[in-house]
Amino acid sequence: MTGVTWRDGVDEIERRRKIISVGVDVPQVGVLAFGLVDRGTNIIEVRPTTLCPLSCIYCSVNAGPRSTNRWAEFIDTPEALLPALEEVVRFKGVNDVEVHIDGMGEPGIYPYLVKLVRGAKAISGVSRVSMQTRLYMLSDDTLRELAQAGLDRINLSIDSLNPELAKRISGAPWYDINRVKELVARALELGINVIASPVWLPGINDDDIINIIKWAGENGLGRGELPPVLIQKYIPHKRGRRVRMRIMSWQGFWRRIKDMELELGVRLTATNDELNVHRAPQLPRPYKLGDNVKVRVISRGIIKGEFLGVILPLRNSAIYDRVITVIAGPHMEKILIGNQVKVRVIENNDNIYIGRLI
Ligand code: SF4
Repeated sequence: MTGVTWRDGVDEIERRRKIISVGVDVPQVGVLAFGLVDRGTNIIEVRPTTLCPLSCIYCSVNAGPRSTNRWAEFIDTPEALLPALEEVVRFKGVNDVEVHIDGMGEPGIYPYLVKLVRGAKAISGVSRVSMQTRLYMLSDDTLRELAQAGLDRINLSIDSLNPELAKRISGAPWYDINRVKELVARALELGINVIASPVWLPGINDDDIINIIKWAGENGLGRGELPPVLIQKYIPHKRGRRVRMRIMSWQGFWRRIKDMELELGVRLTATNDELNVHRAPQLPRPYKLGDNVKVRVISRGIIKGEFLGVILPLRNSAIYDRVITVIAGPHMEKILIGNQVKVRVIENNDNIYIGRLI
């Protein structure tokens, strides 16, 4: 059970799992847990930490104190992230890159968040810095510093305005939705745009979604540039926490969104043009499916039984150097970490590498 503040949630995780700091010697592309993810658009995902003090009932990445499958957590360093980000932005060759800070944890508790935002915004070619967060963990002072550092937009994870249901969905008894509302007002005053991105859990927060739309519209979220709310469909993930419910079809979901737009007179969808998302050169994939590669195993991976490896030889370039998740088994920890092994690449979607020991 979590304690009385969000820090107790993080302390609990630190007692139970290995916390791994990622330094400049580790490539920044190749895993979902930290570093950079490039999906071939002008948006680069920056993933600073896997730590999260909440335990949302639907969490697709099974984060937080109540995680059942993690055995390590990662905290990346700005010294590793920022130079790699600069290289990838240069590689893309466009002048409207959006750096989106998110990941398998809650970026709001990342200790170097202001430094990361300031560094990202200073990179030539970056036009916008945005962040996905529950916001609750940020103080007024940190928000002010983030605004000064150049944070443009917060995508707010929020699933209910009802204090009790909000605590239940977030799995965190200390989570206070009224404090979140105060922080939203503060962010907007400071010039940071905010859009709400609730996850719709049919049968659990139907009325709450309507209330969030009304509240967001009345309080100026989206600032007239974007819809105040972009609703997320709940999708159960193999390794995520699951909520027992009837899963809506995509067709049914979009039909309900259109109905709500008409009923409430609020736009709830945005085009790629409005969001300024477009194709942009994607990083090369240096290793193909089925390739056998030499890997130095450096630590546990995030999920129990997985390990983190560096594919050798390194070229000292974020464009080509990759980390890889090596699937083995928890009993292999003492044998693997610190050693070189041969691995077969079994997945490389969007440069996220998974391999098996040969
Ligand atoms: S959904 Fe986000 S805030 Fe909730 S437990 Fe997962 S990572 Fe944390």
